[in-house]
Amino acid sequence: MLISLSEALSYAETHGGGLAAVNTPFFEALLATIDVGERAGVPIVLAFAQSHEKYVSIEEIGPAMVALASRSEAPFVVHVDHGEDIEYIRTGLDIGFTSAMIDGSLRPYEENVALTRAVVEMAHERGADVEGEIGAMSGNENGDPSQGIADETLYTRPQEAADFVARTGVDCLAASFGTVHGLYRREPRLDYELIEQLRRAAGVPLVMHGGSGLKPQEYRACIDRGVRKINYYTYAAKAALDAARDALEGEDTYVFSDVAVRARQGVREDVGRFVQALAPRAGAL
Ligand SMILES: [Zn+2]
Repeated sequence: MLISLSEALSYAETHGGGLAAVNTPFFEALLATIDVGERAGVPIVLAFAQSHEKYVSIEEIGPAMVALASRSEAPFVVHVDHGEDIEYIRTGLDIGFTSAMIDGSLRPYEENVALTRAVVEMAHERGADVEGEIGAMSGNENGDPSQGIADETLYTRPQEAADFVARTGVDCLAASFGTVHGLYRREPRLDYELIEQLRRAAGVPLVMHGGSGLKPQEYRACIDRGVRKINYYTYAAKAALDAARDALEGEDTYVFSDVAVRARQGVREDVGRFVQALAPRAGAL
């Protein structure tokens, strides 16, 4: 069934767990993540990032995300990740997405506030929730070797988080406190004290981007301090590739469909471990 991001966040908050948000820009990842959600019995966010338009368009995979989530008995949020403009988010909501992130974090602060405010007004009118972002997170999702290290000068300041939430009305806030998108080039150093300060200042649940590659105890420590939604993509996509490589060498692989099925299994195992790590209690699933 489709649920709102606010409902999923409050479920996670009430149970002391983290809400897994998985990007599914290919069909095997989508099927695998639905499967994980149905086994886990906790809400999961199916997300599609605007930057993944290079793989498949939201008009193509979006309706499949909404349909599969709607007909499932397990609760799913269908979410636009890193929307760059209001038109793109409107497209997602027209397809049936139940929430969206507007990412104005690379714009000047006042411009980010104005854009985010406009998206919140549009989305709330339609019953959808909005995630905003301040404090830039670099990323090397595509293997750029100059990135993959968190830049401490870009960490979110608590006062700015308070101002941003008050002026935009966002339902949750992505902030920068030590994670980066993609693969890490060195051990991430999470600023736990900053997370606590941000949660207090913002007054809304915090969102962690760049959730791939952290240890289970690091997820737990972030959740305990106020991070509620954790975004995940790179390692799941890599698990699909590793499984596909194995399948290519298998003697019983005759057609691409055999490779796709193995990729789906790879994502299912990887996302299953991720969702387990965020569960309210170890072994609760
Ligand atoms: Zn992100």
